[in-house]
Amino acid sequence: MKLLIATRNQHKLKEFKSLLSNLNFKIVNLDQISSIPKTFNIKETGKSFKQNAVLKAVGFGQIAKSLTLADDSGLMVDHLNGQPGVHSHRFAKHGHQQARNHILQLLKVVPKPQRTAQFKCTLALFDPSSNKIKTFTGISRGYISLHEKGNHGFGYDSIFLSKDLNKTFAEIPDSKKNQVSHRARAFKKLVNYFKIHDYD
Ligand code: IMP
Repeated sequence: MKLLIATRNQHKLKEFKSLLSNLNFKIVNLDQISSIPKTFNIKETGKSFKQNAVLKAVGFGQIAKSLTLADDSGLMVDHLNGQPGVHSHRFAKHGHQQARNHILQLLKVVPKPQRTAQFKCTLALFDPSSNKIKTFTGISRGYISLHEKGNHGFGYDSIFLSKDLNKTFAEIPDSKKNQVSHRARAFKKLVNYFKIHDYD
């Protein structure tokens, strides 16, 4: 069966392909769908990761008329009332270095027990043949570190101290991050769903 991955982010596309490699889908990307113009995008106007992931899966899936998978993710800092949250990408409009510095500055005098944070990812699967939407959410918990640490990863990885690993996500290789990350956890649920419902 064909599965459209609704992202223009090549890094994510690669990650999605690898996480789904054990299943029998014919993975296609947005560039391979002739009815979707190369410049067309869905506005992420939702107030939650789930709403944005659903907007993207349904928006692209209805045009492509194909089973479609989309995601939305970000960092939620408890001391900042869950910000940057769904605005994680926009919060870094002047680059992630500045965004990381900004968060460290906002938490400058906050002690460790109050520096809790989580990465969250929601995947949305839309099937246009039945109009059915299914979502899968993964969470990875931790703390905002006192300083940046590590050179791996991207985005907010170097200030996110994982509770599972007691290291920042930037101090560990991708293979290790992929065992405990929010995206990996959401994918685990999705893969189980595919297996139970006999998709391939
Ligand atoms: P989106 O899901 O492509 O909208 O990405 C949201 C933003 O959340 C990214 O641009 C990053 O700023 C942040 N983000 C999401 N997942 C991660 C991660 O695994 N590490 C670091 N930053 C992340």
